[in-house]
Amino acid sequence: MIPYGRQDITQNDIDAVIAVLQSDFLTQGPMVPRFEQRVSDHVGAKYAVAVNSATSALHVACMALGLGPDDWLWTTPITFVASANCALYCGAKVDFVDIDPHTYNLSPQALERKLEQAEREGKLPKVLVPVHLCGQSCDMHAIHALAQQYGFKVIEDASHAIGGRYKGQPIGNCGYSDITVFSFHPVKIITTAEGGMALTNDAELARKMGLYRSHGITRDATQMSHAPDGPWYYQQIALGYNYRMTDLQAALGLSQMDRLDAYVARRHELARRYDDLLANLPITCPRQHPDSYSGLHLYVIRLQLGKISRSHREVFESLRDQGVGVNLHYIPIHTQPHYALMGFRAGDYPQAEAYYREVISLPMYQMLTDQQQDQVITAVSKALTT
Ligand SMILES: *Cc1c(COP(=O)(O)O)cnc(C)c1O
Repeated sequence: MIPYGRQDITQNDIDAVIAVLQSDFLTQGPMVPRFEQRVSDHVGAKYAVAVNSATSALHVACMALGLGPDDWLWTTPITFVASANCALYCGAKVDFVDIDPHTYNLSPQALERKLEQAEREGKLPKVLVPVHLCGQSCDMHAIHALAQQYGFKVIEDASHAIGGRYKGQPIGNCGYSDITVFSFHPVKIITTAEGGMALTNDAELARKMGLYRSHGITRDATQMSHAPDGPWYYQQIALGYNYRMTDLQAALGLSQMDRLDAYVARRHELARRYDDLLANLPITCPRQHPDSYSGLHLYVIRLQLGKISRSHREVFESLRDQGVGVNLHYIPIHTQPHYALMGFRAGDYPQAEAYYREVISLPMYQMLTDQQQDQVITAVSKALTT
């Protein structure tokens, strides 16, 4: 089976991890700050906080922004559940903004309409989580303008988007947001097995996220309520978690960073080949907005169901039967049973639901060969027509 995504591990990666295994520190050693520095330098953000997943990064980001009970977090229904769950961890409430039918990202027009209504009802969000779906940046310029106007904070969920750019600037520089989050899960663009990172240009947000990642404990005397009792002393000054990344993971991430730009370039080659070779089939290939240079985590095709005699599910199953490990990103979150309990219903977000009924994620990863990609293209053609 050709998977829809997979990691690339080289001998350099293996050597880097083994070197840590043979060193003094498996965790809380020198590799984590080095990895943080490397990523923050690469994307042009001042501060980076490495954690054990993007899910944890979203959680500490929400905590640092002070999200709490009675607050609202808004996000898109077309994302992984973690983009919304972070609000629930904080006791806050979640609401969704429908997607743009062309980019599949959170629609700034739908956002503006919803904000106007929320303002009348006194239910404005505290935090918005735009998700750069498939690696393509959201319209951050419009989102940032609305954030200024309505006074909410912005966490970019860039789990798909490391290595991409928006208006020529690296995603992750937080030029239009308070915090940006990356994921290093193996299907994403670079990996640390499990892992994530939160980036910001705000020293206080960075300090808080660092605190929440490690139990709320500090060894910094300037943050303590009184002078340290002695050299052993630390203080717990907030309630945090153990969300730390290990040095093994950070060493792997550092080594993978060497290949980030090459990875994204290869993904663009593959996308161009898909665009060319799928052009005559009854499907819609991903539209790339000119402001965005996508990280291309995913390549999502949309079936033109009116033009084919097979159902979405039949096409999907045919591809799997032909050895192509397609997937679907994502099931609209508001239709998940846990969210239906909060009162969301099918029909609430028509663009997101229409998208879900028509899309399939084709294999897209740096080590996919042209020959494997040709197999995928043949399989798609067959699945649509027979
Ligand atoms: C993968 C992903 C996450 C969660 O990342 P983890 O590192 O697995 O916790 C969050 N948001 C989006 C959009 C993702 O794709």
